[in-house]
Amino acid sequence: MALLHKGTDDNNPRILVVDDEPRLLDSLRDLVAMRGYQVRTAANGRTAIAALEGGQFDIVLLDLALPDMTGHQLMDAIAQRNIDTTIVVVSGDASINAAINALRKGAYDFVRKPYQLAEMLKTIENALNKRRLEKENERINKKLHQSERWYRYLVDNSPDIIYTLDHEGRFTFVNDRVETVLGFKRRELIGKPYSALVYEEDVNAAVYVFNERRTGERSTRNAELRLKCKDGGKGPRSFENRFVTVELNSMGIYDHSSLERFGRFIGTYGVAKDITDRKKAEETISYQAYHDLLTGLPNRALFQDRLGLAIAQARRNGQMLAVMFLDLDRFKVVNDTLGHVAGDELLQGVSTRLRGCLREGDTLARVGGDEFILLLPQVGCGEDAVKTARKILAAFTEPFPLDSRELFASVSIGISLFPDHGETMDTLTKHADIAMYHAKSLGRNNYQIYSQTMNVSHSDRLSLENDMRKALEREQFEVFYQPQFDVGSGRIGGMEALIRWRHPTRGLLPPSDFIPLAEETGMIIPMGEWVLRTVCGQLKAWRSAGLPPVTAAVNLSAPEIEQQHFAEKLIRMVQGCGLDNLLKIEITESVIMKDMENTISKLNKLSLVGVEICIDDFGTGYSSLSYLRKLPIHTIKIDQSFVRDILKDAGGTSIVTAIVAMAKGLKLHLVAEGVETESQYEFLRSLGCDEIQGFLFSGPLSAGDATELLAGKGHAAPRLGRAAAQTT
Ligand code: C2E
Ligand code: MG
Ligand code: MG
Repeated sequence: MALLHKGTDDNNPRILVVDDEPRLLDSLRDLVAMRGYQVRTAANGRTAIAALEGGQFDIVLLDLALPDMTGHQLMDAIAQRNIDTTIVVVSGDASINAAINALRKGAYDFVRKPYQLAEMLKTIENALNKRRLEKENERINKKLHQSERWYRYLVDNSPDIIYTLDHEGRFTFVNDRVETVLGFKRRELIGKPYSALVYEEDVNAAVYVFNERRTGERSTRNAELRLKCKDGGKGPRSFENRFVTVELNSMGIYDHSSLERFGRFIGTYGVAKDITDRKKAEETISYQAYHDLLTGLPNRALFQDRLGLAIAQARRNGQMLAVMFLDLDRFKVVNDTLGHVAGDELLQGVSTRLRGCLREGDTLARVGGDEFILLLPQVGCGEDAVKTARKILAAFTEPFPLDSRELFASVSIGISLFPDHGETMDTLTKHADIAMYHAKSLGRNNYQIYSQTMNVSHSDRLSLENDMRKALEREQFEVFYQPQFDVGSGRIGGMEALIRWRHPTRGLLPPSDFIPLAEETGMIIPMGEWVLRTVCGQLKAWRSAGLPPVTAAVNLSAPEIEQQHFAEKLIRMVQGCGLDNLLKIEITESVIMKDMENTISKLNKLSLVGVEICIDDFGTGYSSLSYLRKLPIHTIKIDQSFVRDILKDAGGTSIVTAIVAMAKGLKLHLVAEGVETESQYEFLRSLGCDEIQGFLFSGPLSAGDATELLAGKGHAAPRLGRAAAQTT
């Protein structure tokens, strides 16, 4: 075998002449040498084998009759040793058998002795030629084999799936990759139609790619498709939905040996690159670009996109749409007191609850810390939007369970409608925002539909805030007193203290114009302390003047009660003035529910020293009444809205009836506020309401007017006198 690889010099072939007859041997050697070939001679079989084993010979000129063995035996020996050489038998044996035998044993040719020189040379040349061709062929075959192995290696180790289909779209080849990417064995696919691999929803799109007949530039490039996955594939693991997204390049394959003009179409060749990871990354990026990560809701960019589309559609179809701006009330307080983790939890809870109020097709987005914006793309009329707003407000009456506690939250909502309040994205959003601020200023936890009168600019708000900071030291605040009349005796039972701001340029401002802002900015704390001091001073003054004793009720906002030493501070103040039992406080249900545990303990402390507690605006807050029994409450005040509805409709009347009955059952003192008409008064009196407050008898009075009223010189008393007179 070793000899096989040694190789010979093509230009100088080596020839071994084997003959036992010295004369012949010499003459052949000379002849061959003359031709320029390298020659060696051997006179017997053994020497010949030794020579052949020692070096490479292109041709052996072999005599059949040797002294130690026959030529046939020598040929066997050569074959056994795998010696690579071409044998030409030169023999005196002229029988056809000898020739046939020689050829059968692998000789290339048979030359009969005596031979013509020319004939001998021609035979040698032919043998060399044939040998050269054989060698060339062998080399080419080896190269081919090598390159085929190389290609196979490349194809199977390609990171992409490589396949060919026949002209009917059946797999004729697919590389190993298909197994790791999709989990299919190669043999499972060969002969199957391509559709066996295509994800159902993409079958239509796949037809063109997999039947690609074009080649070159015009063939399919980077077509995106989903391919089915079998167990073992790397596709997403959701049941049924298992697929891998690939990017496909394909082109037609043609047989150019055919007679057809452009060759005969024999199938399609394609490469499918697995781009699942890239897709996932792209999806994550686009999700993050269009969503708020905390709540998973769309962000402002996505919202604007949807709003733009919805406006175009509404305009085309002559429809209405609504934009709602939602802002959590006092969210800053949650963040500041409970920390950002609780704040985040609340926002997540809120977004889940908001989602529950929406229909399919509505878009809810989070556009700021505690700001949400809502698109209702199809509303029949404004009332439809209002219904959704009411639903949202109702959804907030239940507390939000956070990790460590429950928290009540409320939301203020501004609504703008297309096309009534604006026809562009900007105006609709701006007007919804303005309406939302209006809802805040009206005491929060309500909705407002935009109207042009709300158009107070942002700079107005800022200047109001600045003015308010100076108002305390410049003594621009004033406390007004609204009397509450005892239905039974007709006497003034108490006064409600209501703050006013005598603004240098805007005139006398009601609390709704500045209390929400004061709460937001924290100004409410010094302002509230000032009101309490002023009211205590007034009570003392009335006592010193010898007027009949009345109580005074002061309204308190959530941030005031939330102060750490609120109860102690208030007790100190009351006891400092010696006003036993004359000071009352009014708080709303929502204030209590915000932080029930703490509020209860604070109110208990106050109650112990004789400060009475009144629930203001009763009935507008929370349906759960169980808290009433847990709290040291003395009075409830029916909200004006119910009083207004008395005798207007059965619903309004029955709510008031129920509240009165409940107060009686719980033995609570009952006040009705906002009483404006005789019939309202009559109705309330007939139910057994204890005290009445309202314009029917008296609106809020300045300290001076209130003093006069107490002294019996006021203008309200005669009216009450008349009304009360009827009771006795
Ligand atoms: P409130 O405690 O429910 O006060 C009753 C409101 O109803 C007062 O409005 C009063 O002027 C008004 N009112 C009285 N009788 C009638 C009537 O017959 N018909 C109608 N339509 N309204 C009547 P005001 O003074 O504008 O106060 C609004 C709210 O501002 C108060 O509601 C209270 O929550 C808050 N507030 C007032 N003063 C203070 C204060 O010193 N501190 C705090 N934190 N809040 C205050
Ligand atoms: Mg009040
Ligand atoms: Mg009230």
